[in-house]
Amino acid sequence: MTEVVATPPAAASKVNLLDFDREGLREFFAQLGEKPYRAEQVMKWIYHNLEDDFGNMTDLGKALRAKLGEACYVGRPNTLVDKAAADGTHKWLLGMDTGNAVETVYIPEPTRGTLCVSSQIGCALNCQFCSTGAQGFNRNLSTAEIIGQVWVAAKYLGNVTHQNRRITNVVMMGMGEPLANFDNVVAAMKLMRDDLGFGLASKRVTLSTAGMVPWIDKLSDAIDVSLAVSLHAANDELRTELMPINKRYPLAELTAACQRWVARKPRTSITFEYTLMKGVNDQPEHAKQLIRFMRRLPTCKVNLIPFNPFPGTQFERSDADTIRAFQTQLLNAGILTMLRRTRGDDIDAACGQLAGQVHDRTRRSAEIRKRVNAEVTHAV
Ligand code: SF4
Repeated sequence: MTEVVATPPAAASKVNLLDFDREGLREFFAQLGEKPYRAEQVMKWIYHNLEDDFGNMTDLGKALRAKLGEACYVGRPNTLVDKAAADGTHKWLLGMDTGNAVETVYIPEPTRGTLCVSSQIGCALNCQFCSTGAQGFNRNLSTAEIIGQVWVAAKYLGNVTHQNRRITNVVMMGMGEPLANFDNVVAAMKLMRDDLGFGLASKRVTLSTAGMVPWIDKLSDAIDVSLAVSLHAANDELRTELMPINKRYPLAELTAACQRWVARKPRTSITFEYTLMKGVNDQPEHAKQLIRFMRRLPTCKVNLIPFNPFPGTQFERSDADTIRAFQTQLLNAGILTMLRRTRGDDIDAACGQLAGQVHDRTRRSAEIRKRVNAEVTHAV
């Protein structure tokens, strides 16, 4: 684990270029009286060469470099902590402003490297099994704070866009509900997809939602990315207990939104995430309910996730035999079902757990945790 001293934030009066997608950057350069192609040159420096110092952007004239230095900066989040696990998983705690931090996690596999990115500081949706949800909501991240997580990880990993990619996939699956921070998340995902940004194909950028139904339709209009849905239960009663958002957007509405998504993007599928919690949602009748749910979305798949316990939770991970039996029941019914390996167990891998250690020092967080624990005890 490395402790890194945070760098001071750049002057508030300057504009952070990480807040702009390509279109926004061209407009900003036009306001500076510069040609649009200059914006594209700077984009390449920022996202391909991971350069944040205008002085090193050698194909820009000296006068332009000085002008940029006066007007703007490339403001990435500060690395407060980085932790490497024995299995190669890497987690960064990134400081966004005084007292606030989010987590970004890199998961290397033989054929790909996935970066899990946060969209909010905390989360308001209060899913009962989630370490982030237990901390409550603080604020949305800006576009710069979202794409800045990719930038920091890319720099650390020596990622070379279009050549030697260490980050092949990005999932908006970290802290927060990305569709509740729609505009900033979409702008950041545009930068992930843009050839002058990180240049990732649509199937390699995934947004995961707890089921914010109206924004699922809006997302399919706004950008071409992949969709994952946190399901965790396929009956309304249990899902509402585990995920209060289900009361607002119950399974019938969620199913219809997913069917519309698939109809609009016929070559894509949706991944449904299902975290297995001992004695809560891992029994044969739960698998049957999930099979019935998936029959309405026949091109989609299920990702089973063994629950990752965190301090204070009332839930436990299902045992290995139960997980295998649950998966077999789904596979026998013809449902494409994957089982996610747990990674980074030695670095507080449950989402929000590391940031939680920062937030737990606040009274508000302690109160929320107490209330959630009381509710969970009631629910189970
Ligand atoms: S699971 Fe996702 S949506 Fe639910 S509380 Fe946690 S971060 Fe928020």
